[in-house]
Amino acid sequence: MTQGAVLIVGAGHAGFQVAASLRQLGYKDRVAVINDEGHLPYQRPPLSKAYLKGTGGPDTLMFRPQKFFDDQTIELIAGHAIAIDRAGRKLKLASGAALDYGHLVLATGARNRLLDIPNAKLPNVRYLRILDDSEDLRARLAASKRVVVIGAGFIGLEFAATARIKGLEVDVLELANRAMARAVTAEVSDYFQKRHAEAGVRIHLGVMATAIEADGDKITGVSLSDGRHIPADLVVVGVGVLPNVELASEAGLPTASGIIVNEHLLTSDPNISAIGDCALFESPRFGGSLRLESVQNATDHGRCVAARLTGNDKPYDGQPWFWSDQGDDKLQIAGLTTGYDQVVLRGDPSQKAFSAFCYKAGKLVGIESVNRAGDHMFGRRFLGMDRSLPPEKAADLKFDLKAALA
Ligand code: FAD
Repeated sequence: MTQGAVLIVGAGHAGFQVAASLRQLGYKDRVAVINDEGHLPYQRPPLSKAYLKGTGGPDTLMFRPQKFFDDQTIELIAGHAIAIDRAGRKLKLASGAALDYGHLVLATGARNRLLDIPNAKLPNVRYLRILDDSEDLRARLAASKRVVVIGAGFIGLEFAATARIKGLEVDVLELANRAMARAVTAEVSDYFQKRHAEAGVRIHLGVMATAIEADGDKITGVSLSDGRHIPADLVVVGVGVLPNVELASEAGLPTASGIIVNEHLLTSDPNISAIGDCALFESPRFGGSLRLESVQNATDHGRCVAARLTGNDKPYDGQPWFWSDQGDDKLQIAGLTTGYDQVVLRGDPSQKAFSAFCYKAGKLVGIESVNRAGDHMFGRRFLGMDRSLPPEKAADLKFDLKAALA
């Protein structure tokens, strides 16, 4: 059981959750969250989905109103953490303040990977990570006619679908030979490529943006590695993120492609944990280290650390799940669909409702569901029990998945 102030760096999904769970579990000492965004802690997924499309204000995104933080005595400290004095157990902020901690939780998330090609710093080359980006893009969508999206990952494609609904001409550039290649099966890539094409989004695969073309500060288009030039007045970049590890590494904590933590989400310093997008954690369930970028991962990490700090220490064993909304389609992923060697389909892509069951050495490792929420919910429960299902049963729509759960 920890004593003293718990300081949390970062007020995103992970930082908010650890603070809320600490109070829920009865932690009595100081809980303070360092928040470097000018908003109450808010949900990020709608930024590329409903919020981008809609007209609601920032208050629609907040996890909780200010009253919750006041009632729970969770301090929100506006500021940016710049250094950790591990020997003195102090966190230094850019304002010059130095805050004492009993335990420090790093929930610093990730930042956008920046595009490094000519003219990439022009005002109409935009990224989408924070609320202010989404607000800004709402206005630019209204003022633009042609957008080139660089990167056919989840955020790029969610943005592309919205831009098309808003009536823009949309071209998406992707270096890989299929959309969302790092994250989903070829079957699911194929389905979404077709659906975006039907909506009028042009996806160009196996090409790289080599330069943004401009007339002064005004974007005129994007040049491609295959010699083509696509006209545009707006460019949106979604080429992945980099975990924010610098605060940890400068304090001498081990980092690699994330802040290295053990299966308890603890760094090499027993007074410092790291959670969410920034954490590269040891996973007994998956037998190796993982860094995931999802709401489930961030919030379950937050709950796990709050439990440890209040005396209930267990290794982290969350079951990964994720979702993405693109146009009218909902993709939901349960488990980790990497390293699979067999895929069977349940349902029919032509009916716009199917799931890809992914197997590794005969064992079910993950399910990607398109407009089949029941399969997804089954997957979350079934995989959580560490069970498998013969591929022929997965493929048979007459086989009742609920019966398999029982
Ligand atoms: P973040 O939410 O990134 O929060 C980290 C916070 O720490 C930030 O506010 C950052 O500014 C702050 N910070 C960093 N360094 C410091 C410092 N030194 N001092 C103070 N503060 C600091 N996931 C899904 O599962 N489903 C989705 O549909 C989905 N859609 C998404 C759409 C968008 C547009 C984006 C950007 C992400 C989406 N994600 C989605 C991913 C999900 O939002 C992230 O995995 C989740 O936000 C990670 O939470 P986190 O708390 O680890 O990091």
